Amino acid sequence: MKPRRNELAPPSGAMVGPEERREILEKIATAVRGCTRCRLHATRIHAVPGEGPIDAPVFVIGEAPGRDEDASGRPFVGAAGKIFDKGLQAVGLPREETYITNVVKCRPPANRAPKADEIASCRPYLLAQIEAVRPKVAITLGATALRGLLGHPVPFKEARGQAIELGGVLVVPTYHPAAVLYNRRLEVEIRRDLRLAARVLISGRARHIADRHRRDKRSHRVNARRRGPSQGAKRSARRSR
Ligand code: SF4
Repeated sequence: MKPRRNELAPPSGAMVGPEERREILEKIATAVRGCTRCRLHATRIHAVPGEGPIDAPVFVIGEAPGRDEDASGRPFVGAAGKIFDKGLQAVGLPREETYITNVVKCRPPANRAPKADEIASCRPYLLAQIEAVRPKVAITLGATALRGLLGHPVPFKEARGQAIELGGVLVVPTYHPAAVLYNRRLEVEIRRDLRLAARVLISGRARHIADRHRRDKRSHRVNARRRGPSQGAKRSARRSR
């Protein structure tokens, strides 16, 4: 499957190790918990920075924390989260191997959709998290999450069903699992998109392994050339004189 290219500037991706990246992620979480950049801080119980392993190959982006998330400070713990967990498991992408967050980290009052200025205020946290985790695949849940990641509106129906390249990360858009609570048929569609994300991840891994083999073979040849002919080759050269 050929990924669709997106012209947007990606997160920069500085060359730092896992320990430093984990520290960066913790600093982002601390900043989020004390953040007052937008009006949503005034009504939150807990900010919800996100959670998951530092080397998660899959990065999931929802819209905003709901009531359960606001109460617990953890992402995707409500009914929609459970639907999504089941979907992840069904396609072999366990939640423990994914990093999960939202485009805005504080719950909008009465679960309204986040406003454009709130998304823009919170976006630097999202991009910094992606830069720290360096996932292979990002799954966006719903039109707001896709817009929040890309930084501009995109026709959701057109974007769905394909992988969009964004700075080395393949973005797979799907519906928000909360939509399944109102329309059960969307669960099938979400699973179809999650299967696409799993395939993208596997083909990305295969490419990575093939690239590594190619690099290893090349450096082996270069080292052999630097070392010069082997003792055996020298002996047979002497014999043939
Ligand atoms: S939603 Fe984001 S920008 Fe707004 S207060 Fe919360 S953490 Fe800060």
